[in-house]
Amino acid sequence: MEGPVCQVAWGCYLLLAISIGAHCAMSSDNLACPSTSDLQTQPVAALDKEGIGPAMMSIPMTACSTSLSKHHSGGSGTNKNKQMVEQLQRYGVISSKKVVEVMETIDRALFVPDGTPAYVDSPMAIGYNATISAPHMHATCLQLLEENLQPGMHALDVGSGTGYLTACFATMVGPQGRAIGVEHIPELVASSIKNIEKSAAASLLKGGSLSVHAGDGREGWPEHAPYDAIHVGAAAPEIPQPLIDQLKPGGRMVIPVGKIFQDLQVVDKNLDGSVSIRSETAVRYVPLTSRDAQLKGY
Ligand code: SAH
Repeated sequence: MEGPVCQVAWGCYLLLAISIGAHCAMSSDNLACPSTSDLQTQPVAALDKEGIGPAMMSIPMTACSTSLSKHHSGGSGTNKNKQMVEQLQRYGVISSKKVVEVMETIDRALFVPDGTPAYVDSPMAIGYNATISAPHMHATCLQLLEENLQPGMHALDVGSGTGYLTACFATMVGPQGRAIGVEHIPELVASSIKNIEKSAAASLLKGGSLSVHAGDGREGWPEHAPYDAIHVGAAAPEIPQPLIDQLKPGGRMVIPVGKIFQDLQVVDKNLDGSVSIRSETAVRYVPLTSRDAQLKGY
């Protein structure tokens, strides 16, 4: 993100934070602008960096963050991960049993950089001007895609970053399905594969139903198209046509769209091939862009 844009975003954030106050649910998620790094650790209320689901709008996110970290001050990693998921259920972010199951199965701590508080409901920097999304945002996207992540289905995760959601998708679609991550920073592809190898999705990676590839996700990944589910983890100025083309009739894509002001859009391809689009919520993600632009700080 360029300086002035960043400043505008920061200014908007301040205005919103002031006008909405501490009791709102605007959280930061994928924002990678260095001068807004505080946003990533201090989620506030109604317009999120990498988004929040509507359920989160009524949650005091600052309290949520604190509460999650407090609850996770003791116990094993697996228990702490479970407690994080329970907390998201208590706040009404997760209502789906399958999403609970998969988020309990894939331990978030294996995907965040060492020394990062894994179970705090906030995005975290992962290098290369990218972030891992906040747990509530992962939960929201999993829930929006749940029906399209059934065993045997094909899922594409564009901007797969740490590999967390790709691992969740692979676990849901199972060994008969196919989960593909596409990420344009080769170092992140390599580290995401290491993360997945430590996780409960390792056997799926080994078995070949889960794979992560270096490439420009705006082109999708035609080899395993069409997809029942497509998730895009970075904001596109407009929905890339190849991704629409690679969506199966009956398939669903969840994609943040916009520049400074973004919407998490839910794109359903109808059986006749037509497309219906609705906005789920206001969000703020890092851009879906070229590798050069991202490494230069947008
Ligand atoms: N959802 C992931 C990461 C989100 S950050 C997680 O939670 O871990 C967004 C990711 O999109 C970054 O890793 C960034 O490198 C990647 N990205 C941005 N533009 C891209 C493009 N054109 N092709 C592939 N990946 C892209």
